[in-house]
Amino acid sequence: MSITLSKSGAPKATKSYAARAAREPLAPFTFDRRDPLPHDIVIDVLFCGVCHSDIHQARDEWGGSLFPMVPGHEIAGRVIGVGDKVTKFKVGDLAAVGCFVDSCRTCGSCGEGLEQYCENGMTVTYNGIDRSGAPTFGGYSERLVVDEAYSLRVSEKLDLAATAPLLCAGITLYSPLRHWKAGPGKKVGIVGLGGLGHMGVKFAHAFGAHVVLFTTSPGKVEDGKRLGADEVVISKDADAMAKHANSFDLIVDAVSAEHDMNAYLNLIKRDGTLVLVGVPEKPLSIHPFSVVAKRKNFAGSCIGGIAETQEMLDFCAEKGIVSDIELIPIDKINEAYERMLKSDVKYRFVIDMASLKNS
Ligand code: NAP
Ligand code: ZN
Ligand code: ZN
Repeated sequence: MSITLSKSGAPKATKSYAARAAREPLAPFTFDRRDPLPHDIVIDVLFCGVCHSDIHQARDEWGGSLFPMVPGHEIAGRVIGVGDKVTKFKVGDLAAVGCFVDSCRTCGSCGEGLEQYCENGMTVTYNGIDRSGAPTFGGYSERLVVDEAYSLRVSEKLDLAATAPLLCAGITLYSPLRHWKAGPGKKVGIVGLGGLGHMGVKFAHAFGAHVVLFTTSPGKVEDGKRLGADEVVISKDADAMAKHANSFDLIVDAVSAEHDMNAYLNLIKRDGTLVLVGVPEKPLSIHPFSVVAKRKNFAGSCIGGIAETQEMLDFCAEKGIVSDIELIPIDKINEAYERMLKSDVKYRFVIDMASLKNS
């Protein structure tokens, strides 16, 4: 098997930041990437977004975390090597990778391009086990070796650092907004102005819906409007919430912590839908009458498939949509986690991976 590698070489030893155990701070860690297989590309990771799921998993809030863990699934970089069967990329191209790097490729969901719902389980970009039995390590690392079929093409037109969060935060909001047909004439709510939520506001606005942002942070009202919300409601204000009772076609809830879902179900109109994308640590409690009385739908949604993620990236390139980011060096990652827990980020941290390579 002949593998073409760039002149830069792409050695196996790869620098990263890893959590060694739940609730331990992330620290430098070196591991070996696999030799590229014929369909693999080698990506020099230039930027990696910081998702709240990274915190949930590094701190084992969902259970079953595998350590050491190299988080990061909002990955953007340049191709520095290609296997001999690669057709979609060449050395020098931009490439991006999101939350999964493989799936069974044979089940009904994979057949429909919904690899994120693979009936045999997608292979997540980190905190997973690949088909060779090896642990997967994510984008807080110098480089990634990944099958081209699970890699995305990125336009040179967009700011690359601000594009990285589209790979999780972006697609996670784009997919339900498309699926439940956010658009002109629809009243659409987004709950939580974090990494996911701010992309939800941007996309719902771009799709032509009437957008209402719900936030717990009074300091985010002006930003909410700037990002595309027609109205902003402080969710702790019961009177302001009551004014919107039974009026929404769709609300997407992107909150990372425990909160009252019934408050949002009350705002959905008959046959409308509340979609949960946030994955708080603890189970949620729903009052039966919140859904029964007006035939309301309560749904969930998980990232998006490869085809839809590419569609989203192409849409963003056409419309000039990227994430609002704060660029950080990798040694600020633990501080960034603490700030995210205080909802103190506008609106996505992105790691400048040059800081790791130069360390
Ligand atoms: P994030 O940037 O930390 O944003 C979360 C937002 O939730 C905060 O900015 C805050 O918004 C709001 N919030 C936080 N604590 C709250 C509380 N106690 N009560 C009410 N609101 C609160 O997180 P993210 O990266 O966007 O991720 C959000 C959630 O989605 C996480 O649970 C993550 O694991 C999950 N996720 C799911 C998928 C999926 O495929 N379904 C994909 C990626 C991430 P305000 O300040 O505006 O209130
Ligand atoms: Zn994520
Ligand atoms: Zn499958």
